[in-house]
Amino acid sequence: MNILVTGGAGYIGSHTCIALLNAGYSVIIADNFTNCNRETVNKIVDITKKKLHFHEVDVTNERSINEIFKRYKLDGVMHFAGHKAIGESLEKPLNYYYNNVVSTLVLAKACLKYNVNRFIFSSSATVYGDNKTPFVETMTLLPTTNPYGETKAMSERILVDIANANPQLQISILRYFNPVGAHESGLIGETPNGIPNNLMPYVTQVAKGKLKRLKVFGNDYATVDGTGVRDYIHVLDLADGHVAAFQNTSSGARIFNLGTGKGTSVLELINAFEKANGIKIPYEITNRRSGDIASCYADVSKAKRELDWEAKRDIVSMCKDSWRFEQNLKENTF
Ligand code: UDP
Repeated sequence: MNILVTGGAGYIGSHTCIALLNAGYSVIIADNFTNCNRETVNKIVDITKKKLHFHEVDVTNERSINEIFKRYKLDGVMHFAGHKAIGESLEKPLNYYYNNVVSTLVLAKACLKYNVNRFIFSSSATVYGDNKTPFVETMTLLPTTNPYGETKAMSERILVDIANANPQLQISILRYFNPVGAHESGLIGETPNGIPNNLMPYVTQVAKGKLKRLKVFGNDYATVDGTGVRDYIHVLDLADGHVAAFQNTSSGARIFNLGTGKGTSVLELINAFEKANGIKIPYEITNRRSGDIASCYADVSKAKRELDWEAKRDIVSMCKDSWRFEQNLKENTF
């Protein structure tokens, strides 16, 4: 079976390409390499020892996307490509709305035109806004505090409406919680541009000595120790979740949380990282980061019930694998 993976050279896309190739699928990557390294494609081949196709295209370019649909007999699409930095989305909302929403529209249109029925969409737990935890798929979505989150909510709504009008479509919308970790080979992982916004890459860069000290954004939340609680999920579990979703599609649009169901605070994560890797992480408590919520973790029962999938890797392997990848990175910005 041929699967088009947009954003297949990105962090989650690349790990999912490995899972798909290992499960015997043929993979066609469409990526414009704006926020990732083209070397990743070679690394996917090195790791899996399997061939793949890739096309350097912008997914908002309808003509290029149609060429790909014409060239391959596709059995499905996994749509990862998109801008993902929350802070940047506040500075460049037009870029975010255009890129993230138009790419979804272009792909959905091509799926209908070329009779490709299976579609998996990368969404985010950010669409829940400040709902009460644990987040359940049936909750009414609350406004998010940034354009990035809105592009995910809008894309979801568009896909649900298109699926309602076209019963041949089998769409799975996957709401990711907080992906961390890296492939156990240490060859691929997350490579943020500039100073990382997310906690785990910040921690690994402090561990490496690239950054001096972690800032813990607030310790006065109503959580176990006052710091923010998130549902960290190993990227390899997330990748497996995509294969499970692809293998268990049915008519209509279905929504699934992909998380572990377990919340970990910032201080708990620092502690787990220190223990797992034997490295001290210097930190200081600072003000809250604007737009942050106290707590975000998933109710994961639907994915378990309907996809027969659940996350298997614990916080220790997330910390070890993230650190192994960081240590292997060649570039050095001391
Ligand atoms: N966080 C932190 N320092 C950082 C980055 C993040 O204290 O340098 C906290 C943040 O306030 C949140 C948690 O770590 O409580 C996870 O943040 P991240 O940006 O990784 O994920 P998100 O907030 O988007 O779920």
